[in-house]
Amino acid sequence: MANKIPRVAVREQDPVVRATNFEEVCYGYNAEEAALEASRCLNCKNPRCVAACPVNIRIPEFIHHITEGDMRAAADTIHFDSSLPSICGRVCPQESQCEGSCVLGIKGEAVAIGKLERYVGDWALEHSAEVEATPTIIPNGKRVAVVGSGPAGLACASDLAKMGYQVDVFEALHRLGGVLSYGIPEFRLPKERVVAREINEVKRLGVRFETDVIIGRTMTIDSLLDKEGYEAVFVGSGAGLPRFMGIEGENLNGVLSANEFLTRVNLMGAWDPKHSDTPVYVGRKVVVVGGGNVAMDAVRTAKRLGAEAVIVYRRGEAELPARKEEVHHAKEEGIEFRMLTNPTRILGSEDGWVTGINCVEMELGEPDASGRRSPQEKVGSDFTIDCDVVIMALGTSPNPLIASTTSGLNINRRGCIEADEMGTTSRAGIFAGGDAVTGAATVILAMGAGRKAAKAIDEYIRSK
Ligand SMILES: Cc1cc2nc3c(=O)[nH]c(=O)nc-3n(C[C@H](O)[C@H](O)[C@H](O)COP(=O)(O)OP(=O)(O)OC[C@H]3O[C@@H](n4cnc5c(N)ncnc54)[C@H](O)[C@@H]3O)c2cc1C
Repeated sequence: MANKIPRVAVREQDPVVRATNFEEVCYGYNAEEAALEASRCLNCKNPRCVAACPVNIRIPEFIHHITEGDMRAAADTIHFDSSLPSICGRVCPQESQCEGSCVLGIKGEAVAIGKLERYVGDWALEHSAEVEATPTIIPNGKRVAVVGSGPAGLACASDLAKMGYQVDVFEALHRLGGVLSYGIPEFRLPKERVVAREINEVKRLGVRFETDVIIGRTMTIDSLLDKEGYEAVFVGSGAGLPRFMGIEGENLNGVLSANEFLTRVNLMGAWDPKHSDTPVYVGRKVVVVGGGNVAMDAVRTAKRLGAEAVIVYRRGEAELPARKEEVHHAKEEGIEFRMLTNPTRILGSEDGWVTGINCVEMELGEPDASGRRSPQEKVGSDFTIDCDVVIMALGTSPNPLIASTTSGLNINRRGCIEADEMGTTSRAGIFAGGDAVTGAATVILAMGAGRKAAKAIDEYIRSK
């Protein structure tokens, strides 16, 4: 019986060794392991995993192709709904999506759908030349501009290029990929082996990329539409503006946002101090405030740079929003977790450097609007954690630059661009999707939004 086979464990780097390097933690399945794991799928008539996937990948179908050894069909099946399987297989929160709905998970262990998706995605990247001879594209002579090269922009550009549009992507940073490049660290998502190859697939379709172009400064969206001859613009500019707590001491040297810390390390090479022009100070002990994926990435990066690294989170372990796998990996690597703990003040030396962080203990009360039990302060529970660096990982919102330089583009109270399900905004010809619309969310949602917007842009241009 397929479901009597235990879930095939995935091979990983030893925690003690990996806590000192930036190589990928998880090795993924080999062909035999993937085939065995795939054989566990019950191929349900009414697959709940498909309904729970934000882009409805036909999961039992691609898994069935793996059992038959037909990798090309497996890859084609996934690619029908997802343009970034190698990436999503690595970073999607599967436990709350596809795997969280797998019937095998009710009494035992869910099928390792994410690891199988990664296996197929990696296979497709390695065999891209033979799998997808560059599709025959019939140019339609129309041009579309895309702002931002994160998953939303890449997915939108790729689908539009396949439809025959000339797509130009404008990226503010000097490297492409958005959070995939500057946020998520190498040990979770290899840049050359995975991200760069996925981007190369988009380039193969004829999409052109221009880096170091800040839309809203170098050019505006209005000028792209009115002067540069683009028929439409897709805004996938993400949510890169970090939040802080507003507590005393946040201006001290040694306090930084997780975005700045991770960008310095991932994009500017600060993990390699001998060859980097932009070092990063980690000191002896780093406290990271927050409990999401960003916090886990920051704290595990600090550990790899040699610091004692601590997570401070105001709710309990059950409420941690990070992927379970990241929390598990962080613990294995020796990260200290201070749950139900909330910072109240950052302490500094006379010359303005962080020396510690004052916190209070919390207890959980009734569920709040988010459905999670809200933390309440325990009176008189103040204490101090000595540290040299405090990293704030409290969430991000969209940068206001695009909205403030584009006439008639509405934003909501949270600073996100207002757009419907298909990415249509308040301005004709301007479409938006991903974190710029939802606020900080996930790779798969951004990718899905980019693809939906590509359809809407095509309809819009055809109907002009
Ligand atoms: C550290 C970290 C870890 C994460 N971990 C996970 C995870 O494990 N799983 C998961 O699913 N999600 C994770 N996320 C969230 C996920 O990465 C995002 O939801 C996703 O990348 C959003 O995609 P996007 O294309 O909308 O925006 P982004 O990836 O942010 O890309 C936007 C791009 O637009 C560019 N840009 C912005 N403004 C302009 C401008 N004015 N002109 C030109 N270019 C501009 C930016 O430089 C950037 O390259 C993580 C996020 C972070 C920060």
